[in-house]
Amino acid sequence: MAEQPVRKAQPGFRWEAVDLLAYKAEGEAPFKDVTRQRLFASAALGCELRYFEVAAGGHSTLERHAHEHAVMVLRGRGGCLVGERVTEVGPHDLVHIPAWHWHQFRATAGESLGFLCMVNAERDRPQLPSAAEWAALRADPRIADFIRG
Ligand code: MN
Repeated sequence: MAEQPVRKAQPGFRWEAVDLLAYKAEGEAPFKDVTRQRLFASAALGCELRYFEVAAGGHSTLERHAHEHAVMVLRGRGGCLVGERVTEVGPHDLVHIPAWHWHQFRATAGESLGFLCMVNAERDRPQLPSAAEWAALRADPRIADFIRG
């Protein structure tokens, strides 16, 4: 990456010399129709910048962890759960996901939802909700209606 200071944008939210990757290994955690591109990874900065794209009808994993996320939506519309709040999001909205907040993104508007996500380079492994935690989340009807697993 470091040898090429400028990697030009390509059609379809792709970038020169950036691979289109699976979101996670199949079977590692529940998700539907999500891709990942690793745009920057800097040991000096201690962070990575990724671009995720959730295809229409898809969703990221419902998870929580000690590390935080800073997200900016780049394309499409959809929704996210952060903590106990479900919010519609669209282009250029900023989403901060604090430590240990349950979070999930869904492409609910019949179009792809693409977003940048900044994250620590070294980070803990995400936790998935236990059966009891699923039940606690579903106690709120708005959350129950939103979350997928
Ligand atoms: Mn996460």
